[in-house]
Amino acid sequence: MNQPTEDMHRLGLATRSIHCGEGVDAETKAVRRPIVLANSFKLNDDAETLAESFDWENTHKFNYPRSRHPNGRYLEERLAGMEEGEDCVVFASGVAAIAGAFFTLLGAGDHLISSRVCYIGIHELLVEHLAKRFGVEVSLVNTTDPAEVKAAVRPNTKLIHVETPANPTTYISDIEAIADIAKKAGAILSVDSTFSGLVTQKPLSLGADLVMHSLTKYVNGHGDGMGGAVIGRKDLITQMRDAASIHLGATISPFNAWLIMRSAVTLPLRMKKHCENGMQVARFLESHPKVKFVRYPGLPSHPQHQIAGKQMSGFGGMVSVELLGDLESAERLIRSTRFFALAESLGGVESLICHPATMTHASIPREERLKAGFKDELIRLSVGVENIEDLIEDLANAFKKI
Ligand code: PLP
Repeated sequence: MNQPTEDMHRLGLATRSIHCGEGVDAETKAVRRPIVLANSFKLNDDAETLAESFDWENTHKFNYPRSRHPNGRYLEERLAGMEEGEDCVVFASGVAAIAGAFFTLLGAGDHLISSRVCYIGIHELLVEHLAKRFGVEVSLVNTTDPAEVKAAVRPNTKLIHVETPANPTTYISDIEAIADIAKKAGAILSVDSTFSGLVTQKPLSLGADLVMHSLTKYVNGHGDGMGGAVIGRKDLITQMRDAASIHLGATISPFNAWLIMRSAVTLPLRMKKHCENGMQVARFLESHPKVKFVRYPGLPSHPQHQIAGKQMSGFGGMVSVELLGDLESAERLIRSTRFFALAESLGGVESLICHPATMTHASIPREERLKAGFKDELIRLSVGVENIEDLIEDLANAFKKI
């Protein structure tokens, strides 16, 4: 097994995405990791060394796959290497990973500050479950303004959770500034960096303790596998492995772990193309007469463009656009594209279009959505890696129908 090496930080991302977690299979000498499907792993027969089989610190001991299995571990090594974190723990989905962190780190009476604009599944988890049922104090704030985060800190603030860029507005929060606030408050900072695809920003190097990814999105990237990861401080990851993997049981399947590990190899290449195409689509939309505004962190018109430029090395393929028109215009546009399929999810090689007000974020009351900065006319595009001319032509034709 290929443990993270001392010189890992010296290696480029493409090299790490291919070599971290990879290794020669001991039995077959295959230079690719095999898929290991087994519910049981042979324990040490010797009574004196049996305890070693359950040694939690040794991440290469396996006994029962809900707690840990080889394909999950190979993927953890790859992702820890790519994100340059001390360790990683993977789960069955992005929500499972983030819920696993909350489950591990928070208890009744603790206070959590979170981005008000965040993926709906997390928003509902915070508001409907942690706050209403589990006694966690939850403050949803506008994390694009560090002053709001600072003002929300309480003596019992245990965790600050930031989603940047945020889904679906693409708003950016200043990770370094919030890390400073978290440190002074004695709180842990976790960053949902899913939109960065693990390539365009490095929250850990900016002071975050934990970084989360829905692997279902850019990291897997082929629209066919689900997973989630938390990467960062080893002490916290070890706690999560123990509390969340075993007691929540949302373990990634070996097959999904293998799929995502295979996909991660091309992630830096794919992300480069997502960034190029995202920028071109954003520029096209910004110049279109039927568009009110475009939200893409790479455009100077984005409200947090400067912070994005400071903490991101590229701006990805997620573009939000508010149309001049009404709900009907938005509904007509999303049904008129040829290559942008009307679908949820994001970050895959194929382009997708989505209407948050009636799809992903429909369960949030309209007034709250407006307060969070997205109206009925907001469309979210996940720009894929198709030929850019075809994507622009597709959008231009769809706009003719509204
Ligand atoms: N975080 C963000 C920013 C997301 O966009 C999503 C899903 O869209 C998730 C987390 C949840 O990921 P999953 O669907 O893999 O549970």
